[in-house]
Amino acid sequence: MSNWNQEHRRFLILNMIYQFGPISRTELTSLIDHRPGTVGEIIKDFLDEQLIVETGRSSSGHGRRRTMLELNKEFICSIGISITPLRATTLIAQMDGSILYRAEDDVRPQESKEALSERICERVQEIRAKFTERKIVGIGISDPLYDPSRYSLTGTLVSNFEHFNDWVHFDLRPRLEKLTGLPVETFSPVAFPALVEMRFGGAQGVRDFICIELSNGIGASLCVNGSPVEGSGGVAGELGHTVVDMSADGGRLCYCGKRGCVESGTAFPALVQDIRDALNRGVSSVLRDLPNVQQELTTADIRRAVEAGDAMCRFYVSNAAARIGVAIANLVNLLNPELVVLHGFMLELGDFFIEEVSKSIRNNVLVLAKKFDIRLSTSLESMIPLGAAAEMFTSFLRADDYNWVYRLAPDA
Ligand SMILES: [Zn+2]
Repeated sequence: MSNWNQEHRRFLILNMIYQFGPISRTELTSLIDHRPGTVGEIIKDFLDEQLIVETGRSSSGHGRRRTMLELNKEFICSIGISITPLRATTLIAQMDGSILYRAEDDVRPQESKEALSERICERVQEIRAKFTERKIVGIGISDPLYDPSRYSLTGTLVSNFEHFNDWVHFDLRPRLEKLTGLPVETFSPVAFPALVEMRFGGAQGVRDFICIELSNGIGASLCVNGSPVEGSGGVAGELGHTVVDMSADGGRLCYCGKRGCVESGTAFPALVQDIRDALNRGVSSVLRDLPNVQQELTTADIRRAVEAGDAMCRFYVSNAAARIGVAIANLVNLLNPELVVLHGFMLELGDFFIEEVSKSIRNNVLVLAKKFDIRLSTSLESMIPLGAAAEMFTSFLRADDYNWVYRLAPDA
C-alpha cells in the first residue's frame, strides 16, 4: 500500500510539474494535500534522476526570487516508428517535440515481414546506442498506413489492412520489447496530426480544431474539447470516404469499394486523372509540351501550368479545390472548430489551389460557424512517427490516469 501511495505521489507531482511548470516548490505544495517534506523528497529524487530541472528564478511579487521547476524536456525522449507500403521511419524526439535523429528505410516489396522487423530492430538499437545520455521512456509504433496510390482493388481493404497491422502488434512489438526492455505500444495514427499540432505545432492552446490532409488521400484528424479523437475503432476522421457524388454515373470507384467518395473524386490521383482525360480528349494545355505527361505528372508541373495561366489546369485544380472545400465546410458545420489546419503534398499546388480551397470552405459553412481561422501546418513531414513518440510521453506520465490534473489548469 505504501509503495502504491509513494508511486501515486510521484506521478501526481510529475504531472503537476508538467502541466503547471515552471512552478515553484511553494506553489506546488499549495496545490496538493501532501506534507512539504514529502513533496521535497520526491522533488529531490526527480532532480537526481534528471527528470526535472531547476530553471531560473521567478519574482514572487515582494522582490524575492524563487527557483522554478519544470520537466527536463531535453533529457526525456522517446522513439517513434511509422510504416507505410513504401518506407519505415524511425525517429527519436525530445519531449518538446524536437527530432534528434530520423532514419528512413525502404520497404522492399519482396522482403518478408520478419526481415523488415529485423531491420527496424537494428535501427532502434542504433538510435539507443547514439543517445545513451538521454532517458528513452518508450517506443511508439503507428499502425501501418495504407497508401491509396499503391492500393489495388484485388483483396478487400479490411483484409489487406488488418493483416499488415497484425504483424506489427504480434511480431514487431513483442520483438522490440524483448530486445530493449522498454515499454512498446502501438497506436492508431488517425489523431496524430491533431496531437502533434496541439503539442508542438500551430494549434497549441486551441481546444477545438481540425487538421485536413490533402494528398493521395483526403483525411481529417480531429481535436474536440482539447482531446484528439480516435473513434471506437481508431478510424475517426475518414472524411475522404464520405460519399458525396450520388449522380447517375455514381462517380469514380474508390478503393474502399464505394462510388462517389470525396477522395476518389478530389485527391491528387483523381486530379491527375481528370487532367489526363482532358489531354486525351484533345483539350489544349501547356502540359502537352512535357515529355512524360502520360507517365508522370507532379504537383510542380501542375503548379507551373496554373501559374502560367493554363485554362485547363486552372479549371480542374479549381474544381477539385471547390469540392474539397465543401467537404471541409461540412466538417466545420458538424464540429464548430476555431481552427482548420491544412497539410499534405497537394498544398504544393500553390497559392491558387490553397485560396480556392479556403474560399470554398468559407462559402459553404453555416453563417453561425463562420468564426474560424485556416492555417497551413508547419510540422509536416514527420507527423506520424512524431505522433507515435508523443503518445509515449503520455504513457510515461500516465497522463491518462492523471488527466484530472489537466482539467484543474487555470486559464491564465
Ligand atoms: Zn472511398
